[in-house]
Amino acid sequence: LSFVAALVTIAALAQVNALVLSVSPLKPRQGDTLAFHATLPDSKAAIITFRDRVVPMERLPDGRFRALFGTSPDMPPGLQTVTVLGDDGGKTISFALTRGTFGVQRLRVPAARNQLRKDPRVDADKAAIRACLAERTPDQLWQGAFAWPVTGSIRTQYGLKRIMNGDANYGWHKGYDIAAKTGTPIKTPADGIVALVRPCVLEGNLILVNHGQGVYTAYFHLSKFSVAEGQTIRTGERLGHVGNTGISSGPHLHWGVYVNGVAVNPKPWLTAPPK
Ligand SMILES: [Zn+2]
Repeated sequence: LSFVAALVTIAALAQVNALVLSVSPLKPRQGDTLAFHATLPDSKAAIITFRDRVVPMERLPDGRFRALFGTSPDMPPGLQTVTVLGDDGGKTISFALTRGTFGVQRLRVPAARNQLRKDPRVDADKAAIRACLAERTPDQLWQGAFAWPVTGSIRTQYGLKRIMNGDANYGWHKGYDIAAKTGTPIKTPADGIVALVRPCVLEGNLILVNHGQGVYTAYFHLSKFSVAEGQTIRTGERLGHVGNTGISSGPHLHWGVYVNGVAVNPKPWLTAPPK
């Protein structure tokens, strides 16, 4: 019996060892989008767990499974663990998340605008945004690198710690602020579906576009909307116009990229998007 048990154990180990799980980039920094790839020859489906979030993996044309996750400046650097579970077993790997370098920005808005942060409608806005970003659809709608949503210069980089009117607990900057004149058309950087169109207190007029597999792009402070919720939109089509609504200190587009609810650095999405 013990011989059979040993054989079963060896078979199980061999099966587990056949699974391959990898992370890219190889040395991720805070703000990077992580792509986890798993080879599970006998699995029809697989789920992945990263930082207590469990999501289904999607199958790539080459047969491997993939899932994307976001990292951010407020995610502690150091050892991270990820676990994949398929029909033919599971696998856990560890990797190091490196600390990113992000600056500090002190900014000032008129006191009346800053008071908006205490507006009772802010909680409902946040809940609507969070619920939208948590919605995960299986199809990958984007192809290749994202295009810039507006032409203009980056006024505020991703990840900066912000001190607003002296308040150091304002948080960090969750995207790019791109300076542009009020009325400048905002173009969608990739194919997607318009998921949320909402006048918010802090974000101003806001749009979220779903690009599939947990990937969303966000547009804040618009002067005008050009789309409606549920609308399919193609790369280059107009979403709306640049404005100065919400907590904003001048006309600009705040552009964010979210992966599974985490605001990531948009830069790789413009140059070398996760594969
Ligand atoms: Zn911004």
